Amino acid sequence: RQHNGPDAWCFFQEAMTHSARERLELEARLRQALAEGHLQLYYQPQVDIATGRITGAEALLRWLDPVEGLISPARFIPVAESSGVIGPIGEWVTREACAQGQRWREMGLPGITLAVNVSLHQFLLTDLVGSTQAALADAGFPAEQFELEITESALAQEPEQALQVLRRLRGLGLRLAIDDFGTGYSSLAHLKRFPLDVLKIDQGFIRDIPQSADDMAISAAVIAMGHSMGLTVLAEGVETAEQLEFLRARGCDHFQGYLCSRPLPAEGFEQLLRSSG
Ligand code: C2E
Ligand code: CA
Ligand code: CA
Ligand code: CA
Repeated sequence: RQHNGPDAWCFFQEAMTHSARERLELEARLRQALAEGHLQLYYQPQVDIATGRITGAEALLRWLDPVEGLISPARFIPVAESSGVIGPIGEWVTREACAQGQRWREMGLPGITLAVNVSLHQFLLTDLVGSTQAALADAGFPAEQFELEITESALAQEPEQALQVLRRLRGLGLRLAIDDFGTGYSSLAHLKRFPLDVLKIDQGFIRDIPQSADDMAISAAVIAMGHSMGLTVLAEGVETAEQLEFLRARGCDHFQGYLCSRPLPAEGFEQLLRSSG
């Protein structure tokens, strides 16, 4: 402060106020978007590498603002998370995904797993078990076809509490995935105790394959480690045929990425599922 002089400090304070106001505005608009139905789910296929079949989809949140157009989750999820609006939004996401999944079942489409993202706030500060159970029951969607993705960093935050929540979620019969694996510095000792089904390798390790020998070594090691722990391993952000070939050779189970498809609105995903069925 002293170093930059009083003018710099005033400027800094003004910038802080501005950004705080901006965050409040964004938060209010987000609540309104939820109330007015401007949030939407897109679905990105998850593909079995051995068979090429679509076996699941990750539901990804989109905000369609009437004025601004499509707003990226990277912009609003952090605000939703820190303000707590992620609670009601997350509940809506689960309800919407379960309802959509049940519609697809009733249409007789190939059975798939639907995966939904859970944030740290939702995981530790809301009744995630109760709200998930209610959403599944209300939609009539089978728990075995439902998956929750929890980031490695969220699990690392409060490992003991995390373990309790994971056990209760698992008790509902649903599947659990550890998301963004490799970015969260979790201890392997904890990881081993978590009742998980799927390990998702972060796209940061896939992006530079085959140029990066380091990333290839890391990905291969993570696949082997995941398998040794009895987990299904999915690679995220797969964009090229070479990346897919590498993963196939290393025995990776599933992939997600633009190579198959970008996240699609429900109707688009439905068409893709029909044509691949
Ligand atoms: P994530 O859970 O790691 O989701 C994967 C992100 O990678 C998505 O970005 C997806 O569109 C993008 N992606 C998929 N394939 C490729 C590819 O081949 N190349 C590249 N470059 N990117 C690819 P998106 O949809 O913008 O979501 C960003 C993040 O926002 C998500 O990261 C997740 O952390 C968060 N998010 C999205 N929806 C929800 C939600 O419903 N609840 C919560 N709590 N977070 C969400
Ligand atoms: Ca995810
Ligand atoms: Ca991820
Ligand atoms: Ca991510």
